[in-house]
Amino acid sequence: MTTPDRPDLSPATIAAQAAGATDADTGGVVPAVHMATTFARDADYAPLNADNVYLRSHNENTRVAERVLTALEGAAETLLFPSGMAAVAALFRTVPDGASVVVQRQIYWGTTAWIRAFCTRRGIALHEVEASDLDALSTVCAAENPALVWIETPSNPWLRITDVAGAADIAHRVGAVLAVDSTAASPVLSQPLGLGADIVMHSATKGINGHSDVLAGSLSVRDADHEIWQMIRTDRDTAGAVLGPMEAWLLTRGMRTLPLRMREMSRNALALAEYLADHPQVETVLYPGLPDHPGHALAQAQMTGGFGGLLSFVVKGEAPAALRAVGRMQLFHRATSLGGVESLVEHRHTIEPHTGIPEGLLRLSVGIEDIEDLKADLAQALGQ
Ligand code: PLP
Repeated sequence: MTTPDRPDLSPATIAAQAAGATDADTGGVVPAVHMATTFARDADYAPLNADNVYLRSHNENTRVAERVLTALEGAAETLLFPSGMAAVAALFRTVPDGASVVVQRQIYWGTTAWIRAFCTRRGIALHEVEASDLDALSTVCAAENPALVWIETPSNPWLRITDVAGAADIAHRVGAVLAVDSTAASPVLSQPLGLGADIVMHSATKGINGHSDVLAGSLSVRDADHEIWQMIRTDRDTAGAVLGPMEAWLLTRGMRTLPLRMREMSRNALALAEYLADHPQVETVLYPGLPDHPGHALAQAQMTGGFGGLLSFVVKGEAPAALRAVGRMQLFHRATSLGGVESLVEHRHTIEPHTGIPEGLLRLSVGIEDIEDLKADLAQALGQ
């Protein structure tokens, strides 16, 4: 069974059974790790296995993980990279020198910083816009004729929700490709390709792997014949940005529980968001699962099964109060990243002080621990 043959299967089944991957040589129900970097040819100089010539071009473990993601995303094809940023870079490298791109503002700071530097270097006109405002997106696209539109939803750490179908219409009207960073949602809670996006990107380091022990990134495409996709595929091969077999194997193992983890993380995050919304020390909670979040109705419409484990809140009393609370936390690790089974907290203003992040903002990546333990930790940290 491979999932392309079984489009009827649900995400839980696809994930748990790794899209049908087993080890045909041993009968193992789990695929083996294939560490070989090169593959033999026979006496007539034909490859013993035409799919495998040299590890940089491709490898079986990476193919397995890509098949799982392709099935979960409803994509035509997926390519895995050694990090999320390597996937972002692989896409932006297809933009011609001198072209223009439209990028959502106030997204993951690492993406913004890299794109700014890249566009400057390559003479690409970069237009940053609040893409959750479709009128603003439409105006800038009509004026600037971009080759590529980049959105991130839910956005990190502002938790803004952008209308993927609306953004796709706007991008396509001017002949642009719409790419979506869907890291915070994971392929379980959202499938942007089904909403009209051309390419979906993930930092697979996050929820997709889920155990904070693999660095990886992915791009999945709706139409594998798209010119841009051919360029990305060739460039990954020749420029050497393929994910290694051990990481791919770990990723496949992590994905077996992806739907289960996303469900539990979403449930815990919603409960914490509701708790924090009523807390006297808290100014604001940013979580799309809360009914008063400006993107709540849209998130309900374009996400399924939950709103994810990422949530931000602003502590009253600015940076000193936020840092005091963070310092007291005992269960939330003070660490960057998100999407792991263990909960993390981050004071983003310390990391990106000049980007408009409120000084009191704390970003939580909510894990799968017991909700009462997490609540109690926040309660004692906030002083109530
Ligand atoms: N996109 C988002 C939304 C992220 O949060 C991150 C990392 O934090 C990235 C992209 C970059 O991914 P990686 O750290 O795997 O390179």
